[in-house]
Amino acid sequence: MHIVDIIRKKRDGRELSDSEIRFVVAGAALQTRPEMPQCFSEPQLAAWLMAVFIRGLTAAELHSLTTAMRFSGEVFDPSPLGKFAVDKHSTGGVGDSTSFIVAPIVAAAGLAIPMISGRALGHTGGTLDKLDSIPGYRTQLSLKEMMRVLEQTGSTLVGQTKNLVPADRVLYAMRDHIGSVESPYLICASIMSKKLAAGLNGLVLDVKTGSGAFLKSQQEALHLALLMVQTGEASGTRTVAVLTDMNQPLGRFSGNWVEIWEAGDVLSGKRHPLCEDILEVSLTLAGWMLHIGGKAETPQAGWRLAEELLHSGAALQNFKAMVKAQGGDVCVLENPSAFHKPGATKTFLASHSGYLSSIDCERVGWAVQRLGAGRIKAGEPVDPHAGIEMHVKLGARIAPRQRLVTMFASEPEKLVEPENLLREALAITEEPGIVPPLIYEYVTATNTNEFA
Ligand code: URA
Repeated sequence: MHIVDIIRKKRDGRELSDSEIRFVVAGAALQTRPEMPQCFSEPQLAAWLMAVFIRGLTAAELHSLTTAMRFSGEVFDPSPLGKFAVDKHSTGGVGDSTSFIVAPIVAAAGLAIPMISGRALGHTGGTLDKLDSIPGYRTQLSLKEMMRVLEQTGSTLVGQTKNLVPADRVLYAMRDHIGSVESPYLICASIMSKKLAAGLNGLVLDVKTGSGAFLKSQQEALHLALLMVQTGEASGTRTVAVLTDMNQPLGRFSGNWVEIWEAGDVLSGKRHPLCEDILEVSLTLAGWMLHIGGKAETPQAGWRLAEELLHSGAALQNFKAMVKAQGGDVCVLENPSAFHKPGATKTFLASHSGYLSSIDCERVGWAVQRLGAGRIKAGEPVDPHAGIEMHVKLGARIAPRQRLVTMFASEPEKLVEPENLLREALAITEEPGIVPPLIYEYVTATNTNEFA
């Protein structure tokens, strides 16, 4: 088999066979082992990815790609636990602490949640970077350790091991390098290969749409949701996608520790008006997970069960147990505001009155990244205390000098560029503008045809 023939075939819009796709994925995984003889070069891999970006993939090709990536390294098998294994996954947004709320709720109901997450990516936040802000918390566990935490607490929130889906690490880095991240086919294969490698029986996807999402239009997000539901179901995993709004940051905080703080508040039953959206998305996702995991007759009954587990304190106890089992210091969760120690803080105020009519949420995400919560170059450390607190939501009536956003960074110089980005991102106009709904659509195995 020759990579040049495979590149040409895809370039010309012809369908690749399963064995051709497996050849490419095996060659990509081999690039994690430079000491071995290679099947093809990095420029050839780049050319193949760009051909896929431009031409797309058929359903059969997407299934082959996802499966080959899933089995490109070791896989996790939660079946010895004898529980339904379920996870949630977000396609990436700004300010999203729902994982820390949803996982303990669902674990408290008796399901297993082996959640393998990623780091901050571009303008979007990363679950692992947020967890790393808890002193002592270990995100790198072996598969054996994951199993131990799952047995003890029902959930484990960890990073990819070195050998889990190695092909994705190579393909993802190359996509980032050559500007081909935003392909629904490549995003689908990247996310689904990692989720399926965790041996899930069920998966609920939070597919973000809007100015802060990777795929901005609802139509693109719906397409991605359909691809992921079809790919999950074809592999025997019950898969549901919920299309949620990302035209403004979810909740009150965006950053690392501040999002753990926010999740801790929700788990402790502290209601803040700016966190009602986080609560709604979390209960929706948890409701679906409980439903597909057989704990509730309907997603609505799942929502009610999730609410009970939240209000009874069972979910909070579960979260603390999971943090402790992974080496984290649970004392900091008792008084999260006292632990928040940014080196520099600044609040900027509205210059004029009006309505907050639109937010360029991607720009807000870049501001959070530049404050130090994300990376400019791969491998850089992140600042656990960097981030923002939003004081307003879309549609709010704004008075002159009203507080809009508070920024947190390690030093005052780091506030300058983010402040400019945030000023450009928030539009205050005389007319109120349209406030988008929080949840647009549910895509399940039974209704994919309607959308297709
Ligand atoms: N998250 C992933 O893991 N992969 C993508 O391609 C995009 C978001």
